[in-house]
Amino acid sequence: MNDFNFYQSKAPVDAIQEISSLENAKYIAGGTNLIDLLKYNLLTVEELVDVNHLKSESVKELENGAVLLDAFSTNADTAYHPIIEDRYPLLSKAILAGASAQIRNMATNGGNLLQRTRCYYFYDANTPCNKREPGSGCSAINGYNRNMAILGTSESCIAVFPSDMCIALSALNATVNVSGPDGERKIDFTDFHRLPGDRPHLDNNLQPNELITGIELPEKGFVSNYSYLKLRDRNSYAFALVSVATAMDLEDDLIKDIRIALGGVAHKPWRVKAAEDFLIGKTATRDNFAAAAEMIIEGATSYEFNSFKIELAKRAIIRNCLMALHPETQLPGAQPSA
Ligand SMILES: Cc1cc2nc3c(=O)[nH]c(=O)nc-3n(C[C@H](O)[C@H](O)[C@H](O)COP(=O)(O)OP(=O)(O)OC[C@H]3O[C@@H](n4cnc5c(N)ncnc54)[C@H](O)[C@@H]3O)c2cc1C
Ligand code: SF4
Repeated sequence: MNDFNFYQSKAPVDAIQEISSLENAKYIAGGTNLIDLLKYNLLTVEELVDVNHLKSESVKELENGAVLLDAFSTNADTAYHPIIEDRYPLLSKAILAGASAQIRNMATNGGNLLQRTRCYYFYDANTPCNKREPGSGCSAINGYNRNMAILGTSESCIAVFPSDMCIALSALNATVNVSGPDGERKIDFTDFHRLPGDRPHLDNNLQPNELITGIELPEKGFVSNYSYLKLRDRNSYAFALVSVATAMDLEDDLIKDIRIALGGVAHKPWRVKAAEDFLIGKTATRDNFAAAAEMIIEGATSYEFNSFKIELAKRAIIRNCLMALHPETQLPGAQPSA
């Protein structure tokens, strides 16, 4: 681990100015991912710009009915906030399915969006990895690829984005508020993370030195019909093999609105609008959910060890949509990770 300076910023504008004045600096929030990268020598920095002290009200109701999550507040404070539990239970469930209680107490909302893939080869500095070292090759494609992506992959990278929180944020049509050297802007959640293409070293569409300041949730929180299902090798401290967030709006048994987002299958939260449109106006039946699942998984490609994910994802979609009809029936996979 290299030596670095530590700067405690006093305001977003101060943090942005400080980081922009240096060649090789990073923001640090909870440090639950960044410190690992430093310890494994996957990243070197001249300075860490601490943004933890920028915390304000963790969840704020806005005048237009939307709700603003503070980027610097912890995942735990967000998940257990009464407004989130009451108005966005899908988000609360998804956050609590992640990591462990200790990590959720440190991890921040902004940091969660920017955590790096858990591809084993990315974390092993002795192996080729296009995400870590562009142009070096991808060890996973012909390696042990059990956890890797089945959708949106490229010849350069088949890694998945590991967040749980972001799968719910994708289903809720959240917006990311950012501030940077060129001012402030908002990014639709679907446009925030990237597919790997031939530049897998870029995980998202943030510009250099931009700071995430908040995450906005539209007024509609899908309080009656929602479910988050996380399938993983063990119930705690494990990333999703496949996860599904379903948010549904029903009128009698007809689907008025539905969002289905998948985790653990691609380089970004995966949504297929055509499948959601197909379900709107239809009855909420297993057959219709199964047809939508086929559309969502269409074009999936598997590798030597992860072909099981294709069938697993289809079944998870159907099961989760059925659970969303009766949220109280959510499987243990949706209970908080200890
Ligand atoms: C053992 C373990 C298990 C885990 N399991 C899960 C899991 O099951 N599901 C899950 O979703 N996550 C899981 N996580 C990941 C965890 O949720 C993330 O590490 C955490 O959310 C990152 O937040 P942080 O505040 O600690 O970020 P940091 O580690 O401080 O930063 C991460 C990155 O974000 C940048 N950054 C941080 N805040 C900002 C900001 N506001 N603006 C711009 N850049 C910023 C940093 O520069 C850095 O590049 C696990 C982590 C560990 C260690
Ligand atoms: S899948 Fe991506 S992150 Fe993993 S080794 Fe290949 S290039 Fe690196």
